[in-house]
Amino acid sequence: MNKLSASKILIFLLGIIFFITGKNMNSQTLPGKTQKCIVSLTYDDGIDIDLDNVVPALDSVGFKGTFYVPANSESLNKRMYEWKAVAKNGHELGNHTSFHPCNGKSKKRDWVSPDYDMDIYTMRRMVDEIKLANVMLKAIDGKTVRTFAYTCGDQEINGENVWDKIKDEFVAARGVNGEMPTIDQVKLNNIGSYMMANNSGEDMISLVKQAMKTNSLIVFLFHGVGGGHNINVSLEAHSKLLHFLKQNEKDIWVAPFIDVAEYVKTNR
Ligand SMILES: [Zn+2]
Repeated sequence: MNKLSASKILIFLLGIIFFITGKNMNSQTLPGKTQKCIVSLTYDDGIDIDLDNVVPALDSVGFKGTFYVPANSESLNKRMYEWKAVAKNGHELGNHTSFHPCNGKSKKRDWVSPDYDMDIYTMRRMVDEIKLANVMLKAIDGKTVRTFAYTCGDQEINGENVWDKIKDEFVAARGVNGEMPTIDQVKLNNIGSYMMANNSGEDMISLVKQAMKTNSLIVFLFHGVGGGHNINVSLEAHSKLLHFLKQNEKDIWVAPFIDVAEYVKTNR
């Protein structure tokens, strides 16, 4: 081996080392941003615990969340002025239909009321119900641009995709597939989310760390926080996640789902 080829090999090996360590450190940022990953915090079903526990927790660290509120939410009816204040304060109210239908029979969900079983819905009924919920939410927050969350993650009526009929009404829709896509991989008609049920703060933080390493979007889906729903995480676990996000704010962009969807649309 002559001197020249030995030094070439050395440069090549150093290059590999720099490439690997560079990748591990992940100095990459999101297009047009200084942060490495995106976190969106979403809360379903418009329940009292959102007003009592979640909004105060988010406000204490200055984050804005997304609340998917069905139009028939009891909490929305009883505490409408509080929900109005939540929206005014910058949190997002998202469409989650009017009566929260889900596939019942076909998915063997006993708790789905036969009256609101998507298995017996027509597309017209589903679309009307979703549009009606938009009118209701517009009366509360004045917004004309909105996002949607599939109820139970269910997306079809009689094998036909609901999104195709509602896509002009929404920027994006949240699904329930546990996945963290990079910006170029995001499917706006079905953005995945991780549903939290009895997860610890550490579980949630490790998901965020994964998103930081891979420059991804991670959407959390919560129901109860410190009670209020049978799918629940503790107040302590939720608070641990929020504080981790706050401490790492320079690397993590925390934003409502609609802001994320609009960002994805313009930056990929
Ligand atoms: Zn729901």
